[in-house]
Amino acid sequence: MRIVLLGAPGCGKGTQAKNISLFYNIPSISTGEIFRKAISNDTDLGKQVKKYMSTLVPDEIVVKLIEERLKDEDCAKGYILDGFPRTINQAEVFLKNNKIDRVIYFKIDEETVINRILSRRTCKDCGEIYSLLSYSGTHCKNCNGELVVRSEDEKIKERIDTYKLKTFPLVDYFRNKNLLFEIDTTSLKETEPKEQINEIFGLIKEDLSKIKGRSK
Ligand code: AMP
Repeated sequence: MRIVLLGAPGCGKGTQAKNISLFYNIPSISTGEIFRKAISNDTDLGKQVKKYMSTLVPDEIVVKLIEERLKDEDCAKGYILDGFPRTINQAEVFLKNNKIDRVIYFKIDEETVINRILSRRTCKDCGEIYSLLSYSGTHCKNCNGELVVRSEDEKIKERIDTYKLKTFPLVDYFRNKNLLFEIDTTSLKETEPKEQINEIFGLIKEDLSKIKGRSK
């Protein structure tokens, strides 16, 4: 199954990507995480993309990176793309040589997104995501890595504007291709974060079970 997760920063894509990956045993590929690692290891890619982290990395760099990653053996049975494509151009170039079976779109309001991002902490070593609302520790429960504010999260406004302008048009783009499954997370706002995560994952599993047999 080849799945794309779409939604504003802080919509919960990363958390669900991990759930789907474990459940279906397919890799979750986060372009943002690849870039953050490259920057923290100061690789050539990291040097190249650092200045773009609060806007968008150029399409050519991202598409090439994804196409290379998808050649790896672990992607043979499918994959989850978390944070790609992020522009219509990325989607069009990608779809020339690759197929997507489903696009899961997480609909969320701006206020919730801003609050979530402000309280988000990420493990520097393994990328696990925490919210200060539910965990006030300073280190990761899994690997004891330090929990940090992602540098690009400090520029929330700019990131949301970029999302609205460049990425949001993909919702209609994929809807028109009959690939979109939309989850409105706004109505779940009042429940506990853990309950929300499970409820959303339940909806995702139900939807994916319908298309599983069809994807090849
Ligand atoms: P994320 O963790 O997905 O929010 O990504 C963090 C940052 O990486 C974004 O703000 C972008 O600067 C960059 N990035 C990640 N994915 C892409 C993409 N598909 N196209 C362009 N830039 C990206």
